[in-house]
Amino acid sequence: PDDFTLTLPDEAATLALGAKLAQVLVPGLNIYLHGDLGAGKTTLVRGVLHALGHTGRVKSPTYTLVEPYVVSTLNLYHFDLYRFIDPEEWDAAGFRDYFNPESLCLVEWPEKAQSLLPAPDIDIHLHAEGQGRRVLITANTDSGNQCIATLNT
Ligand code: ADP
Ligand code: MG
Repeated sequence: PDDFTLTLPDEAATLALGAKLAQVLVPGLNIYLHGDLGAGKTTLVRGVLHALGHTGRVKSPTYTLVEPYVVSTLNLYHFDLYRFIDPEEWDAAGFRDYFNPESLCLVEWPEKAQSLLPAPDIDIHLHAEGQGRRVLITANTDSGNQCIATLNT
């Protein structure tokens, strides 16, 4: 699998990476966002959504667990599973259906839903480094690889 790291010195750099990601994302991709509270996961999603034309707010769906968007004809689902506890809620809430070839899923705190989630095409790990952030992007599938191949330039 391909991977690379980048330094993101400030919030603007995280948003800019999101904008670059937005240009290469395709339907069907499943992306996990890893990192502590405050690492910049939601900021990255905000960068993606703004680049795709979303003009409203982008908040982590901490209580609703998922926020659906339709942007540039793309069905994008932003999950924040930090408060996900009950495995039975997964099917009851219809979460399984969100992961399909027509939709793009960006998932914060995938660790909380463990084996319920489909495997990720791309893992993005964010962590604090000085005042900024360090990001590691890893592709696990061919489609994930195609997507990030053009990012690392
Ligand atoms: P998470 O979703 O991982 O909990 P957020 O995206 O809400 O984190 O970001 C938390 C804070 O980190 C925000 O105040 C945001 O402005 C800031 N931030 C994001 N990226 C960077 C960066 N590269 N350098 C410094 N601060 C950043
Ligand atoms: Mg968040």
